[in-house]
Amino acid sequence: MRILLVEDETSLGEMLTTSLSRHGIVVDVAPTLSIAREAVLSADYDAIVLDRTLPDGEGLTLLAEIKARPARCPVIVLSALGSLDQRIDGLDLGADDYLTKPFATEELLARLRAITRRPAAVMQEHIVLGGLAFDRGHRTAEIDGIALDLPRRELLVLEALILRSGRVVTRQTLEQAVYGYDDEIASNTLDSHISRLRRKLEPAGLEIHALRGIGYLLRQAG
Ligand code: CA
Repeated sequence: MRILLVEDETSLGEMLTTSLSRHGIVVDVAPTLSIAREAVLSADYDAIVLDRTLPDGEGLTLLAEIKARPARCPVIVLSALGSLDQRIDGLDLGADDYLTKPFATEELLARLRAITRRPAAVMQEHIVLGGLAFDRGHRTAEIDGIALDLPRRELLVLEALILRSGRVVTRQTLEQAVYGYDDEIASNTLDSHISRLRRKLEPAGLEIHALRGIGYLLRQAG
């Protein structure tokens, strides 16, 4: 899962980036509304966590813009502005949830799980393909009941592929699913994740088919 965190407090941004990454969530931090606007246009996010008091304006103005776009992305407002009226304003403008600062990271995680589980976000908890069972909630994959040993980035590549199984997934989509803004991407690292995944998925009767210059396709071998 990849989220955009719109937050100008550097220490909070760093803390959340670190703690959410332990749960397999890639976090891009946008410290201003204008950077957030660019990020929303350039990447697909599973959710957006939105502060209200930002250096270049009120976060809720971005909320209206996000909700006006065709690709629906759930938004949690995360703000110190926590009066009843302020929370109602946020929800009326289309926020899927509203969490007041100070907050516990565990609660933000639980709410992220909840909003991305909603049908509109097209998320499925348990996915079975061939001999592979993938559990998104627990972030585990099993073949015939035996857990696969998957480092974080291989897990993210597998997740991106399995959510679109039977369809071609572009390199760009995979790179976006796996790397945050600040990560350096060596051009061959995605290929090495893919080749390790190929070997691990073989016993499940699955193959990752490469379409040169286009992307990858996860499908049952046959
Ligand atoms: Ca702020």
